[in-house]
Amino acid sequence: MKNNLILLPLLVAVLFCGRAFAGSETVVNGIAGFKDSPLLPGGKWHVHDPERPQPPVVTPGNVPSDAIILFDGTDLSQWHDKKGNPAPWIVADGAMTAAKTDIVTAKEFGDIQLHAEFSEPVPATGTGQGRGNSGIFLMGRFEIQVLDCFKSQTYPDGQTSAIYGQHPPLVNACRAPGEWQTYDIVFTAPRFNPDGTLKQPAYVTIFQNGILTQNHQAFLGPTQHKQLAKYTKLPETGPIALQYHNNPVRFRNIWVRTLTTTENP
Ligand code: MG
Repeated sequence: MKNNLILLPLLVAVLFCGRAFAGSETVVNGIAGFKDSPLLPGGKWHVHDPERPQPPVVTPGNVPSDAIILFDGTDLSQWHDKKGNPAPWIVADGAMTAAKTDIVTAKEFGDIQLHAEFSEPVPATGTGQGRGNSGIFLMGRFEIQVLDCFKSQTYPDGQTSAIYGQHPPLVNACRAPGEWQTYDIVFTAPRFNPDGTLKQPAYVTIFQNGILTQNHQAFLGPTQHKQLAKYTKLPETGPIALQYHNNPVRFRNIWVRTLTTTENP
C-alpha cells in the first residue's frame, strides 16, 4: 500500500507529460514525424522533425565501413618520417615496431575517432618513463602517452592514457607486457577566434582496453616536456604521429574516422 502511494503521483506525472503535446503526425518522404511540435534550440528543427537529415549509414565490423585504415599489418604506405622519408619502423607478423624515429601519417585530421592497438616489449626492461615508452600525437601535437605501466609506476601525468604532462588517466587499465592493448580515442580539435585567440580547447575521451581513462578532458595546450602547456593559434588539421622513444613498442590495427557529419560540418 505504501509503495502504491509513492508510485501513483509518478504515474500521473508521466501520463501528463506524455499528453502535454498533442500535435498531428506528418509524413515527409515516407517518414512519419511532427512539424507542429516545439522548435529545438537553434530554431531549425522541430522535436521529432521528419525532415531533419538522416545520419549516414556506417556498417559495423572490425573496421567500420567509413574508416580510413592507417595500418592493416602489412605496410607503412600511410606513414613517413617527419622529413617525408619512408617510415623506418619494422613490419612483421602483422605489427609494426618502433625504430629510429617518430613517424607521421601522410593525411591530416581534425576531429577524429581513432582506434589503435599496442603491445609493450617483452621482457620488460627499464623503469618509469624508460619502460616501453611511445605515444600517439593527435594533430602531431597532443600526446596520449603509451608506456608500460603494468605493475610499474611513474609520475601520474606521464602514465599510459595520460594527456602527457597535463592530466593523469582516471585509472590504470594496463595489460601485461606482450599482451595487445586497445586505445579508442575521440578527439576534438581546438577552435580559434579570427584574431587567433582560443575559442575552445582540444578535448579527448579515451577508452583503454574498453575502460574509460579520459572523459572529455580538455588539453591545456600542445604537449610540452617540463613546461606548462599553452595555446597559440594552430592549423585546423595535423597528422597523427607515433613516437619512437628508444623502446621497441609494437602497434597494429590502426584506423581513423573523421567526425564530420551533416549537422556538424
Ligand atoms: Mg611518450
